[in-house]
Amino acid sequence: MLIVQKFGGSSVANAERVLNVAKRIAKTYHQGNQVVVVLSAQGDTTDDLIAKAKEISKNPSKREMDMLLTTGEQQSVSLMAMALLEMGLPAISLNASQVKMHTTSDYSTARIKRIDSKRMKRELDRKNIVIVTGFQGINRYDDVTTLGRGGSDTTAVAIAAALNADKCEIYTDVEGVYTADPRIVPNARKMDEITYSEMLELASLGAKVLHNRSVELASKYNVELVVRSSLTEAEGTVVKEVIKMEEMLVSGVAGDDNVARVSLLGVPDKPGKAFDIFKTFGKKNINIDIIIQSVATDGKRNISFSIDKDSLNDVKEIVDQNIAKWGATGVEYDENLAKVSVVGAGMVSNAGVASKVFEAMYDANININIISTSEIKISILIEKEDMRKAMRKIHDKFDLGA
Ligand code: ADP
Ligand code: ASP
Ligand code: MG
Repeated sequence: MLIVQKFGGSSVANAERVLNVAKRIAKTYHQGNQVVVVLSAQGDTTDDLIAKAKEISKNPSKREMDMLLTTGEQQSVSLMAMALLEMGLPAISLNASQVKMHTTSDYSTARIKRIDSKRMKRELDRKNIVIVTGFQGINRYDDVTTLGRGGSDTTAVAIAAALNADKCEIYTDVEGVYTADPRIVPNARKMDEITYSEMLELASLGAKVLHNRSVELASKYNVELVVRSSLTEAEGTVVKEVIKMEEMLVSGVAGDDNVARVSLLGVPDKPGKAFDIFKTFGKKNINIDIIIQSVATDGKRNISFSIDKDSLNDVKEIVDQNIAKWGATGVEYDENLAKVSVVGAGMVSNAGVASKVFEAMYDANININIISTSEIKISILIEKEDMRKAMRKIHDKFDLGA
């Protein structure tokens, strides 16, 4: 079999863990499999590199950031290859330029376009264990790019799809996908299986156990994923198209504490205004999440929307440049928000879900800032400091615990 195994940052955080993972890889190889390994940067390396950059520049060039951050993954792959070579196994590390992992040109948020599998296949034919850098790519200018935080999962799935692998295993520091982050909700329950669509929602709404784009790709190319622990032998969670269990009303709760709200005040109440404003953000590739408009008074409205806090600097710049043109009289920012969401395919036909979420927030005395609903999820924006409590209360309300 051809197996792709991805190990996250905490799984390779230090020499002991690198050696431990090397043993796991060796076992798979000795069973007669071809193995491609995808690695993240060790431990907090990526965060540390970001902190280093911030000491030098408040808003560093994205190209240079990618140049810096990709060094983290390059350290991991070379160290892992050394560990395997030390054990007498044939191994070779490759970075994104060597594999030829082609991405779009957007630094820091690149998307994989195409992978040349020739080099990897050649190395596999030579019986090598191939160790590839996660998270990075190259664009058409031959510059290195990164896929966004958590992007190594996406590298692994993309490689599994490109090589038509038999298995794609994502090894991390928890035993699988839970009904909520087990570090926040202690009685969260591990799921044996979850569908692509529910996993995609959870991942997109903040459950960082999988990068959302990895789930999108897995679903598109029908790559069955297994999420499991690098430290124990527990079974893990299978992510796939259809699951055996009857779908639950609610499958999980996700939280994202990296949210900001922008409110444009006194925007003239005229057709085309919203288009004018959001077109400008769209052109700059800013992802706008939830949007609400107030009722117009005296021919003016307030327009509020939430964004990922990481894009706040860019958003502030765009607002400064355009606010006069939009005719808004002012702007307010709230940088300390969190989004808590409930996800479940069974919600479509059940009206009671939203009221249960609100009841849980009422019980916890938590104020809701903005609400957004769709067929498969309900999200609320609340103060960041309330996020953990809100997640626990909602988890309890739906009786999701173990
Ligand atoms: P890695 O470095 O292996 O990629 P991450 O830190 O990116 O690991 O993702 C694993 C973490 O995701 C867990 O430690 C856990 O705290 C968090 N997490 C959030 N939501 C969930 C969930 N629903 N199920 C499991 N883990 C979750
Ligand atoms: N090292 C990158 C990050 O910390 C990518 C990853 O771990 O998936 O975001
Ligand atoms: Mg991750």
